[in-house]
Amino acid sequence: MEKKCSFCDSPIELGRGKMYVKRDGTVFYFCSSKCERNMIKLGRKRRKVKWAAATTKSKAKANAKES
Ligand SMILES: [Zn+2]
Repeated sequence: MEKKCSFCDSPIELGRGKMYVKRDGTVFYFCSSKCERNMIKLGRKRRKVKWAAATTKSKAKANAKES
């Protein structure tokens, strides 16, 4: 089953990427350590990071009307 990166939303190939479980039980999947660092260490939100938001352009457009 293909997973999606919890940070940049790009698909993660089988056998690649990382699973991260927070203490409260929340599970994150990361396509790279870059995404892991940004989300865990830096606490960044996807929309505030240009390179990550670019992969979710279509979604951002759909959400633009609401916000
Ligand atoms: Zn990612």
